[in-house]
Amino acid sequence: MKILVAVKRVVDANVKVGVKSDQSDVDIANVKMSINPFDEIAVEAAVRLKEAGVATEVIAVSCGVAQSQDTLRTALAIGADRAILVESNARLQPLAVAKLLKALVDREAPQLVILGKQAIDDDSNQTGQMLAALADLPQATFASDIAVDNGRAVVAREVDGGAETLSLKLPAVITADLRLNEPRYVTLPNIMKAKKKPLDTIRPEELGVDVTPRLHTLKVSEPPKRAPGVTLPGVQALIEKLKTEAKVL
Ligand code: AMP
Repeated sequence: MKILVAVKRVVDANVKVGVKSDQSDVDIANVKMSINPFDEIAVEAAVRLKEAGVATEVIAVSCGVAQSQDTLRTALAIGADRAILVESNARLQPLAVAKLLKALVDREAPQLVILGKQAIDDDSNQTGQMLAALADLPQATFASDIAVDNGRAVVAREVDGGAETLSLKLPAVITADLRLNEPRYVTLPNIMKAKKKPLDTIRPEELGVDVTPRLHTLKVSEPPKRAPGVTLPGVQALIEKLKTEAKVL
């Protein structure tokens, strides 16, 4: 069984980004980029299924600029077998990525596609759902546990107040939530091994996909600045402030 895993190159979660002076976008020049954290969890889930003898091959896919190769190398170091970069300098929106992934699903015929539940840069939480719709596959989003048996995936998913368990007929699309696993620490020997694993590059045109953005960003602005905190002389002063100034938000 083949598993396709989607990994996006995003601004590292520890970086505080600013807005460009013309308010057209977030400024990512000279900023550290990393694999999207939920995608790291998705790769770990796929690799664990391979280690358990359930999957035979894990293919990592990234859509974006040439530097997304680094993101794919991280996925290969975690344990993916090979990688595909769909290279484009266009600003790829979730619908475009979903169409590219659909084209790769048609080519590779995986039994399972695992994505992150959301990319931490656009916070869209759309790509997995759009892919499932375009490829006409069953989907389970926000997965906190995945078990594959007998041509079906049994997925526990996070819902308000607990977990819902779904049984999906394969092939299917699953999106990974934070509690699915804790990704392994990538070791130096595995980083070295990853450099030798196959990484193919294709362009959206070769997949017959038009990636022209459908949405236009009007403006990007910084969140309002928070007022600085104050140090109080003691408990009595704190009680007084709570009585007179504290607000229920
Ligand atoms: P989003 O819908 O943008 O929040 O992204 C949800 C998930 O779709 C991510 O966690 C990735 O697994 C996948 N994804 C989104 N954009 C890309 C991309 N450019 N390349 C590969 N995977 C992506």
